[in-house]
Amino acid sequence: MTISSHALAEPHAVVRSVLAEHAPADRVREFDEAEKFDHELFRALAGAGLLAGALDESGRLNHAHQAAVLTELAAGPTSMAVAFVVQYMAVQLLNAHGTPAQKDAYLAPLLAGDVHASFALSEPDGGTDVARAMKTTATRLPDGSYSISGRKRWIGGAMDCGYLLLLARTTEIGPSAIEGITTFIVPRSTPGIVTREIDTMGIRSLAQTDIFLDDVGVPAENVLGEPDRGFRQVIGTLNGERLNAAAVALGIARGAFDLALTWATSREAFGRPIGAFQALQHSLVDARLKIEAAALLLDRAVKAADAGDPSVDVDSALAKLAASEAGTFTTDAGMRLMGGWGFARELPMQRYFRDARLYTFAPLTDEMIRNYLGEKMLGLPRSY
Ligand SMILES: Cc1cc2nc3c(=O)[nH]c(=O)nc-3n(C[C@H](O)[C@H](O)[C@H](O)COP(=O)(O)OP(=O)(O)OC[C@H]3O[C@@H](n4cnc5c(N)ncnc54)[C@H](O)[C@@H]3O)c2cc1C
Repeated sequence: MTISSHALAEPHAVVRSVLAEHAPADRVREFDEAEKFDHELFRALAGAGLLAGALDESGRLNHAHQAAVLTELAAGPTSMAVAFVVQYMAVQLLNAHGTPAQKDAYLAPLLAGDVHASFALSEPDGGTDVARAMKTTATRLPDGSYSISGRKRWIGGAMDCGYLLLLARTTEIGPSAIEGITTFIVPRSTPGIVTREIDTMGIRSLAQTDIFLDDVGVPAENVLGEPDRGFRQVIGTLNGERLNAAAVALGIARGAFDLALTWATSREAFGRPIGAFQALQHSLVDARLKIEAAALLLDRAVKAADAGDPSVDVDSALAKLAASEAGTFTTDAGMRLMGGWGFARELPMQRYFRDARLYTFAPLTDEMIRNYLGEKMLGLPRSY
């Protein structure tokens, strides 16, 4: 399929149709069990224009498109939704901060899905207070190029990406830890980079990696935008990150809910479908309530983001929190409702249950979102 236009009228429907053809439930389970990334599915989704739609015709971010795609994907092959989150993040950073030459070189292949990018911020000593914990350093050499050494942790898809968007400290830490950090475009094949897969409980079809960097040479033209502004660049993507995290968490909740409801109507006990029991009806209603609330908050936040309304700061945080809670509540309720069958690897409830944990702490933990809302929504003193 050729990418004829950035704007897809019905991204939900396009995702559903690609998944129906390329990602039946058995295949999703096989890739999760084998801990393998489904490159064929990625190509099919990209070929249908689902990455390209991240930007609208005028080159602005299209949050409504991204949220629709991610919600739909997360209800099926959740790891693929997370891979899309990373790719959308790279699009957002390059689009906002890339020099004209960088945009020319990197954006089109990213949007076509010809290249995977990874986003390398977190480090072993801390993901939350990451600027203060950052030990990876980039030293400027006399010829203007940089040498990067250090370590990154939890980096999605870095085993086989084309390049890393990697943050490293370029100026010694001062009173404000967020200053003096630079984003680099680092080709994965650069000598001095070693990746090691981390064995994780969820999102197993997208490898999370440790990255070891030893004197990795990067030319000056691979600084994304301006040096020393990297952390500020990332802060600028936070609303989009929260929206996309919310979309994935919501999709997981929906996938789990649909399975639980179907199970409730077909499984019998005491001569009745288990969905006839009040206790289970209540938990399904509570799950649905959380899902509907999260969907409404996400919709409001997405509209604010696409309209450039500053209310998106608080709205995207609320949506992320509501969706994270919908995800963990619904997958827990689904596991209980399915009894032993929830535990069986042949059915996806246990995978939803595992995968839903991711967005309780990524890209920001729910505790930090609450801290932020305490300050920005309630006007209370900053607590961190
Ligand atoms: C599957 C997976 C994929 C990931 N993908 C990526 C990726 O592609 N790129 C990337 O850069 N990173 C990635 N991450 C890292 C992720 O963003 C971090 O795990 C996250 O930011 C949390 O950091 P941490 O794990 O170091 O927890 P910590 O920062 O150690 O936090 C530990 C606990 O302390 C709490 N805490 C800390 N400060 C406060 C405070 N002030 N108030 C209240 N509580 C506080 C936290 O909420 C948390 O409960 C990924 C992680 C995983 C597991």
